[in-house]
Amino acid sequence: MNSANLYGLARTVGRRTRIPVGPVEVGKDFLLIAGPCAVENETQTITTAREVKEAGADMLRGGAFKPRSSPYSFQGLGLRGLQILAKAREETGLPVVTEVIDPRDAGWVGEYADVLQIGARNMQNFSLLKETGKSGRPVLLKRGFHSTLAEWLNCAEYILAEGNPRVILCERGIRTFETYTRNTLDLSMVPAVREISHLPVIVDPSHGTGKSSLIPAMSLAATAAGADGLMLEVHYRPEEAVSDRDQTLSTGEFRTLAGKIRSLRSFMLEQGGLDAD
Ligand code: PEP
Ligand code: MN
Repeated sequence: MNSANLYGLARTVGRRTRIPVGPVEVGKDFLLIAGPCAVENETQTITTAREVKEAGADMLRGGAFKPRSSPYSFQGLGLRGLQILAKAREETGLPVVTEVIDPRDAGWVGEYADVLQIGARNMQNFSLLKETGKSGRPVLLKRGFHSTLAEWLNCAEYILAEGNPRVILCERGIRTFETYTRNTLDLSMVPAVREISHLPVIVDPSHGTGKSSLIPAMSLAATAAGADGLMLEVHYRPEEAVSDRDQTLSTGEFRTLAGKIRSLRSFMLEQGGLDAD
């Protein structure tokens, strides 16, 4: 990819973008998003939210609309799921990030969530991009598993072009010939995005690997590569998770990992960080 091919609002101009969400300034503060793959019920979401908050999470994730590969798999609780997320936010103070899969939902889902997620499968759903752009809400835009950096940034451009500058990019792995991991987590995108765009970029090692045993190493590697944050699937009882069980951390595992990430971040900051700004 040649940065000269990229024109528009996503390209690097001056300072890196910072996006305030609740008490966090994304792009400045390191962002730790944690929570279940899907909202399953109130106890599961609220207990998980409390425990990840206690362990140092800045934001709660949880899908109410799940983009499943099979139409017969659990599709999410919809509105009930959003109400549970809103209750978890009320109880813990954690801002909520949740996926939107239908352009018609982009406006009203923002009443329940602080950040709208666009999933890998919908990265090039242009009407969804435009509607989330119009919503004015911060948008977490995942990289499509079939997409180049230029295609990904052009999708960010769709949101920015609607007058919404609040875009957070999320690398979540791409499809390669490797089958041991669910996807191939392309960490080179972290410094690559930072080289040609001012937008914050976070990493999702849960979907990036599909295996909970690989998540701590890839989380630390993403942090060392300069990611602006991480998004991790965490469940208070991972063995009972309805979706993505194999890549779900327990709240205890998350706590241990969050401590290591904090130590690595302090070391990096002591060394002068990665940026001049
Ligand atoms: C998710 O984060 O819930 C999800 C479905 O991830 P992806 O779109 O990256 O597959
Ligand atoms: Mn998932």
